[in-house]
Amino acid sequence: MFFRKKKNVSEEVNNETVKEAVKENNKMNVLVINCGSSSLKYQLIDKDTEQVLAKGLCERIGIEGSCLTHKVPGKEDYVDQSFMEDHKVAVQKVLDALVDADHGVIASVNEINAVGHRVLHGSVFFTDSVVINDEVKKVIRDCFDLGPLHNPANLIGIEACEALMGDTPQVAVFDTAFHQTMPEKAYMYAIPREYYDKYHIRKYGFHGTSHSFVSKRTIEVAGLDKDNSKVIVCHLGNGSSISAVQNGKCVDTSMGLTPLEGLIMGTRSGDVDAAVVQYIANKENKTVDEVLNILNKKSGVLALSQLSSDFRDLDNAADEGNELARLALDAFIYRVVKYVGSYVAAMNGVDCITFTAGIGENNSRMRKAIMSSFEYLGIKIDDEANAKRGEELIISTADSKVKVCVIPTNEELAICRETVALVNA
Ligand code: AMP
Repeated sequence: MFFRKKKNVSEEVNNETVKEAVKENNKMNVLVINCGSSSLKYQLIDKDTEQVLAKGLCERIGIEGSCLTHKVPGKEDYVDQSFMEDHKVAVQKVLDALVDADHGVIASVNEINAVGHRVLHGSVFFTDSVVINDEVKKVIRDCFDLGPLHNPANLIGIEACEALMGDTPQVAVFDTAFHQTMPEKAYMYAIPREYYDKYHIRKYGFHGTSHSFVSKRTIEVAGLDKDNSKVIVCHLGNGSSISAVQNGKCVDTSMGLTPLEGLIMGTRSGDVDAAVVQYIANKENKTVDEVLNILNKKSGVLALSQLSSDFRDLDNAADEGNELARLALDAFIYRVVKYVGSYVAAMNGVDCITFTAGIGENNSRMRKAIMSSFEYLGIKIDDEANAKRGEELIISTADSKVKVCVIPTNEELAICRETVALVNA
């Protein structure tokens, strides 16, 4: 961990040669990369049409059974199951697939004008996306403690691209950045100040790219005045979080120092009394790390239902009379309702509540169940609109006092746009 004055490192970057080259060419393809510890997701996006030219996933990097699945619209999927020793090999395979005569979409790697990387944790040092240089890489490395599973993988992906793509500009888009506008009263934990001063322990929030993208679209779709708007975004997926966005800026969010805080999730407990950790550790003779692993990976609706972390399974089981599945769904809904209610109070009102991500976009029953607790706000759901799928929707009735929307999230497109904005700046 490191301690130094907050500054936005992007100010120090000035890659004139690359910017000129991109401007001259004007056409621009952006490779968006999201590295996990043993995986790498990618999309190649044409910045003008915002079309996905190709996308894919490298799985089991460094593990037996490696697999690259490469998808090009209108073509059969290309699958390569040869071993990927590390992320550098994975990036090389992705580049090979993109330029391949049969399943490729570009003639040469030079047609990739910029790379946008999703990076989990930027601590207090990144309030925005940033063009990557040595200083930025150092800060990402310094944040390993805060994002132990993701930040190391993100950095490996960045260094692999640097090694294979030379001077192509690379941009880091942080999951935490959008939430950096939260006021101190929202992000400070009520624990001794020295832990904030020494280690920057505070609420950060995650899914920032999604909350930023979806809140901006909400303002457009719901026809709100950005500078006088109160929006609540419910990103409900396997990982779930809610944010309160006032006048386009995040003022509170449910995840914390790590993604463990807040809502009940697929396998994460969300909020629990911190003493639970000590109690389980003592009773079961486990370390704190082991208990946290349980709270992250073996809890949530999976633990409550004793069945599945997937909400489709839980819906089906509950319909067939499985009481634990019903309990898991009810507890999930109850926690969402409490957070939404608290954010209405925090902003002294709300203009629009928006649902996004796997559950938020696809589970109309869940949306209806959550919104039924807000009849006191004058919210009315239009059942016909709520039954639709796969598009941006207003699902509240015309006379509803608060609008309710569904906005499909698109984190890759958001990363692409951020990358274009920085490289062209
Ligand atoms: P995500 O993490 O955003 O991919 O969301 C995963 C969650 O969304 C899982 O619990 C799924 O059950 C749920 N989900 C994804 N697609 C659908 C769908 N078509 N219908 C209902 N639930 C879905």
